[in-house]
Amino acid sequence: MRMVLSQGRCAVLEEPVGPLGVRMRERVTTEPPPGRVTVRVRAAGLNHLDLWVVTGAQRVERPRVISADGAGVVESSGAEQWAAGDEVLFFPVAACWRCERCRLGQQVHCSRFAVLGEHSDGAACEVVQLPAENLYRKPAGLSWAEAAALPLAYLTAWRMLVTRARLCAGETLLVVGGSGAVGTAAILIGKHLGASVLTTTRAEDKGPQLLELGARHVFPSSGYSRPVLDVTDGRGADVVLDHVGAATFDESMRSTGLGGRLVTCGATTGVVTQLNLPRVFVRHLEILGSTAGNADEFGDLVRAADRGLRPVVAKEFPLAGVQEALSFLDSSDQVGKVVLRP
Ligand SMILES: [Zn+2]
Repeated sequence: MRMVLSQGRCAVLEEPVGPLGVRMRERVTTEPPPGRVTVRVRAAGLNHLDLWVVTGAQRVERPRVISADGAGVVESSGAEQWAAGDEVLFFPVAACWRCERCRLGQQVHCSRFAVLGEHSDGAACEVVQLPAENLYRKPAGLSWAEAAALPLAYLTAWRMLVTRARLCAGETLLVVGGSGAVGTAAILIGKHLGASVLTTTRAEDKGPQLLELGARHVFPSSGYSRPVLDVTDGRGADVVLDHVGAATFDESMRSTGLGGRLVTCGATTGVVTQLNLPRVFVRHLEILGSTAGNADEFGDLVRAADRGLRPVVAKEFPLAGVQEALSFLDSSDQVGKVVLRP
């Protein structure tokens, strides 16, 4: 059985030629079999992953319904824990839910691990049918657009900071590339956890917005280790989150303090980088990798949203305006998420 079925009007990638390769197509709607739930989508979020998918930079099977992030209302349920009318958002990962790793709560290690809209169909559609395990109750304080902004970027940042880097209240967090989706999520989550947050951006005009989100200082995207050391009295950051890759990795290592944790989830600017080994062992650094997150981590993230963590939405588009929405995501360095409304 396919893990995710996108139904009704769907935004389907047919040709990897950029936004114009995504077209609206109608698919039949079906009743959910046992264990699965059909949800009427109220909002679906876009990520840079969608741009890589639609341009062919990330190869996927086609036709493919895009978008990892969705929220909506249960229409029909084949699982006793959900009923018609429930307001939900989606855990953005598909997994088998049965293997030993899944049962141990490590869905990110499942051999069938998949991100919605990439390795399986996604949320950019009117109706989606998925396993009951993928649904979480929508925090009442979030709008539909905010609920759809939360899943992939915020889960990625949450796992990086909480599980992998063990960020504690009172520690200093440096977010490299604060205006990207994961960067913005990391600033908000770092602040929510009580850390002192520093960030960098290549878009100078985004500085005021990043300060408004709760960053204490915003530095330019090159040569930031010097000002980071200055504002931490020479100690460096306890945790550095870098999703930028080769262009920033050395500066990020220089910014990491004694016993610090450097956590990476992306390599937009290049996949190969040099490592200065003494900088790692003399300073007892930990270099940590992470991608997406587990269901338990998503549950913790949703609870944080119940307690006031609120994602940022840059702009909403109608679902039928998906091409325009993808072009907007590609062309502007917007702070916050781009959301589709079916
Ligand atoms: Zn599994």
